[in-house]
Amino acid sequence: MNPMTQTMKFQPVLDEIAATLRPQLGQGGTVASYIPALARVDARQFGIALRTCEGEEAGAGDFETPFSIQSVSKLFTLTLAMQRMGDTLWERIGREPSGNPFNSLVQLENEQGKPRNPFINAGAIAVADRLVSQALANGDNGSNGNSAKADILALMTSLCGEPIGFDDEVAQSEADTGFRNIALANFMKSFGKIDNDVAAVLDTYFHQCALRMSCRQLARAAAFLCRDGAHPLDGEPGITGERQTRRINALMLTCGTYDAAGDVAFSIGLPCKSGVGGGIVAVVPDKLTLCVWSPALDATGNSLLGMKALEMFVARTGLSVF
Ligand code: GLU
Repeated sequence: MNPMTQTMKFQPVLDEIAATLRPQLGQGGTVASYIPALARVDARQFGIALRTCEGEEAGAGDFETPFSIQSVSKLFTLTLAMQRMGDTLWERIGREPSGNPFNSLVQLENEQGKPRNPFINAGAIAVADRLVSQALANGDNGSNGNSAKADILALMTSLCGEPIGFDDEVAQSEADTGFRNIALANFMKSFGKIDNDVAAVLDTYFHQCALRMSCRQLARAAAFLCRDGAHPLDGEPGITGERQTRRINALMLTCGTYDAAGDVAFSIGLPCKSGVGGGIVAVVPDKLTLCVWSPALDATGNSLLGMKALEMFVARTGLSVF
């Protein structure tokens, strides 16, 4: 199909979703308040954007407004770790849904410090540890902090084709109040599951969560996931291999939306990764990637209107992996 026709097909769908949901802004859900810098975000915002495999982009609502991507970043740090370590990554991290809160300590104790999957906080902290090790192996002497953060920025900037940065205020706010994450990292260290200095690992983790991106940028950055790992912009293969790409999508479907993953598979049927900043990235393999954002969260910690928007998108387009 002509790429232009595809965009024209999707733009009215996005416009309609944004128009339908706009009256519901501020009507339900709550913004994440356990990170003070996020508690100040205006809940009455909604954006939606997509990018097709052919490279066409469409967006509606506040799709150009940057927000704190939070746990959506776990998708990209996992990608970096898989690029660099291949299957050895799975010696440290499992691939099962946790069935426990994303920041739970209990399961880690029972499982000797091996996190259930890379999308709960413990798993993402373990991934950050791997990235710090890789940065050190590549000659980073740690004197300027650590370059795992630079590696993350380089990946995001390359995928988007435009500069991406951290929100230092959010990163600091997380560092000041992230007692549970500090506990998780130290707990894993006590089991010998974190190799590096805990402070350096957490600095990486807090900064990845504090990446500031818009729906348009996130839909674009994740686009390698709908095209077998090829770079979103130049189409070069190898951001991830084909098999790795399938695996990331499988993990998103089973573990990407906190304890709602079963419901999301049931009602939306797309691999998704959400964050407490209110963003959700969704993949329609071989077709497109979507990003929705609205800061007010439902009881499961997923964006309330973001999930409604994805349900509407799937209902109107018939796109689903099932
Ligand atoms: N930075 C947040 C935390 O560590 C991320 C949580 C999330 O988005 O799931 O708690």
